[in-house]
Amino acid sequence: MIQKIKGTMDIFPEEAVLFRHLEGIMREEAERYGFGEIRTPTFEWTDLFVRGVGDTTDVVQKEMYTFADRDENRTITLRPEGTASVARALIESGKYGDTMPQKFYYIINCFRHEKPQAGRSREFFQFGTEMFGASIPAADATVIALAASVLRRVGLKSIRLHLNSIGCPSCRPRYREALVKHFSAHKGELCDTCLSRLDKNPLRLLDCKNPPCATIAKEAPRTVDYLCPDCRVHFDTLCACLEKMGIPYVIDPSIVRGLDYYTRSVFEFVAEGIGAQSTVCGGGRYDGLVSSIGGPELPGIGFGMGITRVILAMQAEGILPPAPAKPRLYIAALGEAAQVAAMAICERLRQEGVYAECDVVGRSLKAQMKYANKLGAAYTLILGDSEVESGRAQLRNMENGEQTEVELASFTLS
Ligand code: ATP
Ligand code: MG
Repeated sequence: MIQKIKGTMDIFPEEAVLFRHLEGIMREEAERYGFGEIRTPTFEWTDLFVRGVGDTTDVVQKEMYTFADRDENRTITLRPEGTASVARALIESGKYGDTMPQKFYYIINCFRHEKPQAGRSREFFQFGTEMFGASIPAADATVIALAASVLRRVGLKSIRLHLNSIGCPSCRPRYREALVKHFSAHKGELCDTCLSRLDKNPLRLLDCKNPPCATIAKEAPRTVDYLCPDCRVHFDTLCACLEKMGIPYVIDPSIVRGLDYYTRSVFEFVAEGIGAQSTVCGGGRYDGLVSSIGGPELPGIGFGMGITRVILAMQAEGILPPAPAKPRLYIAALGEAAQVAAMAICERLRQEGVYAECDVVGRSLKAQMKYANKLGAAYTLILGDSEVESGRAQLRNMENGEQTEVELASFTLS
C-alpha cells in the first residue's frame, strides 16, 4: 500500500465543498475590490525565491522543495509562496509599463518542508493578492480591507488584525544598529541560526521561535520607535484610514514577518482558539521586491491567506460548512426495461440542469428506496413494467408524501 506523502492531504467531496465555498467568497471579494486572477507556474527557478524571499529566511534556508532540472544546469523549486512569482510575471510580461495600479489575486498550492501539524502542512493552499505601483497608504488599506472583508463574510468573529510598520531602507540602519546592540549583549543565549543572523540579517532575529531567542526578542527595540518621518506619516495615515473604514486593528510591534521583501506596513490576521498556527493571513508592503529580482523600482503590497487555517478557525467557531448538494430526484427501477427507462429520464433531466440519480449497482427496489432516503432526494419516482408501458408514473414528494402523476417523457423538476 502506497501512502500519501507526509504533510499532504486528500480532500474528499464533503470537505471540498468547504474549500469551494471559501474559494468562491475569495474570488468574489477580490473581484469586488478590483483584483484580477493571475495564474503562474507551480515551479520556478530557485534563484527567484532566493533573491525574492531572501536567503536568510527560514523559507529559503530550511523549507524549500528544490530539485535539479533534467536538462539545465540550474535548480528548480516548488513555489513556497506566490508573491515572487507574480512579481516575476509582471516584470517578464512588461505589464509594469501599463496603467497602475496592477492588482492580482490567486488561489494556489504552495510547498514548504515544515514539521506537519494542525494548520501546518507541506503542501498547503493559499489565497493571495498583490497590488503593484501604488505607494500611498490607501493601497495598504485597500489590501487589508479585502482580507478583512473575506474573513468577515466567512463568518469569523474571533479574528484580530495585528498591524506594524517595519520601516524602509532609510530607517533600517539606525534600527539595525540598535538591534545588533541588544542581541549582542545576549550572544551566549542565542541559537546557531540566530548567531549567523546577527551579522547577515539582524531583523530575522525577531522571528526566531526558539524560546530563549524569542524571550530576548521580546525585549528588543521596536521598529515603530525608529521610523523615519516618511514612514511615520505613512503608518499614521494608514491607521487613520482603517479607523475611518471601520476596520479594527491593534498595533503589534512584534510582527516582522518571515520574508525579507517587506517594508513599511506588515500585518497579520490572527484567530483566537485554533492553537499555535493561529495566523490565518499575513502580508505587507514590499517596495523593494520588484527591483531585487531585476525589475524596475515599483512599490507593491499584498497578503497570503492560508485556506486550511481559515477552515480551522471556522471549526473553532462552530461555523458549519455548506451542505453537499442533494438530488432533486431519485428514480428507483424494477426490471431491465425500467432500468433503461430510468437512465433515459435521468440523462434528460441532467441535461436540463437537474441533479437526478438512479441505481448503478443493481440494488433491489427496497434498497434503492433506502438509498434515495440516504441521499436526501427531494422526489422519487418508482418505475416498473407497467409504468414503462403506460409512460406515466407517480412522482412522490419525499417531504410531505404527496404524489402526482407525471408523463415520463416530458415532466421536469425545477
Ligand atoms: P507561519 O509563521 O505560521 O509559519 P508564515 O509567516 O511562514 O506563517 P506566510 O509566508 O506569510 O506564512 O504565508 C501566508 C499564510 O499562509 C500564513 O499566514 C498561513 O495562514 C499560511 N501558511 C503558511 N505556511 C503554511 C503551512 N505550512 N501550512 C498551512 N498554511 C500555511
Ligand atoms: Mg512559516
